[in-house]
Amino acid sequence: MVPYYPTWMEVNLHQFAENLRTIKLYLGSTLFCLPVKANAYGMGLLSMSQAAQKNGVEYLGVSSCQEGVLLRKSGIHIPILVFGALHEPEIASLLAYDLEFTISSIFKAQQVHAHLQRMGKSCAVHLEVDTGMQRTGMQPHTFWDLYEFVKSQSCFVIKGISSHFANSEEANSTVTQHQLAHFDSIRRRILDSESILFHIANSGALMLGASHTFCQMSRPGGLAFGLVEPAALEKGPLRSIRPLVTVKSRISFVKTVPAGAGVSYGHTYVASQEVRIATVPIGYGDGYRRGLSNRGHVLIRGARYPIVGNICMDQLMVDMGDAPAYVGEEVVLLGQQGAEEISAFELAHLLDTHPYEILCAFTERVPRVYV
Ligand SMILES: *Cc1c(COP(=O)(O)O)cnc(C)c1O
Repeated sequence: MVPYYPTWMEVNLHQFAENLRTIKLYLGSTLFCLPVKANAYGMGLLSMSQAAQKNGVEYLGVSSCQEGVLLRKSGIHIPILVFGALHEPEIASLLAYDLEFTISSIFKAQQVHAHLQRMGKSCAVHLEVDTGMQRTGMQPHTFWDLYEFVKSQSCFVIKGISSHFANSEEANSTVTQHQLAHFDSIRRRILDSESILFHIANSGALMLGASHTFCQMSRPGGLAFGLVEPAALEKGPLRSIRPLVTVKSRISFVKTVPAGAGVSYGHTYVASQEVRIATVPIGYGDGYRRGLSNRGHVLIRGARYPIVGNICMDQLMVDMGDAPAYVGEEVVLLGQQGAEEISAFELAHLLDTHPYEILCAFTERVPRVYV
């Protein structure tokens, strides 16, 4: 029996299947590589990967060997591509668990080559070209040195060639145009390219409808997990994509405090009149960020109430005014309740960050419940 915890994250797998269906239809014959890195954007690595595998996603993308091994040990059988630059001690596991991985330099190619020679093995690899992100990958002008080296070694099969956009969320970005020009010039020079999966597109590229970037494979993560502003999808072919997550808790304690009472550590909030204060058992230890103290809201019975005072590690306080509040009542911290919604974008805006970070922040203590 899993011990009860009063705070949980609901992930809507029906909507996830709908998001995946919508993206697959939109991609047409382009393969769909779903990034499930960072615990599938906080929604649960294994469950989201199993759902993706069941719903026809062709590839899973992870950031590290560690994530890939976990998926293989749990029975995921579709191809898994490790995006991040590899570290030499990972090579044995990458091969043992049949993980495809990215080669981003000649140095790494030589390390893998030496290992394959020792083991008498061969493997499929993706070569990464850095067209403008300045993160990992070969520069476009030195890419050919890597390509020629890998191509000349019979232990390697070039399965894919990839790059990553830096500014894909911005319409008509000159940075994106430059990146594409580099990528396309490589594509054109590889004449036997039909057997190679070229891939560069992420959520931003799909949302902008940049279909010339989809190539043989695309890697939209945030879009598949519904982490996009609905207004950005209105009327388009992706309009049925929705968020998947509702973070819920239950009121654990209720009291009335008099005017002048300070609430929580540091008394950063002082009641200006007599108010009802509800305590909710979620805090920054659960990944509900402390920066939302005196800024964020929660939903109770479909209405918004402000979080008052500093958010603690495990609890926070809500000013209910003179509204009734009962121990055990459901509280929504992220997602919809009735007609009201608190989106990851709203929280990201309050914290001056990206909605992906809001979801990634939820810790292991918060059970993921699939509905
Ligand atoms: C995270 C990641 C993606 C997905 O980005 P989204 O913005 O979530 O679509 C694609 N490719 C690589 C290499 C990534 O690291």
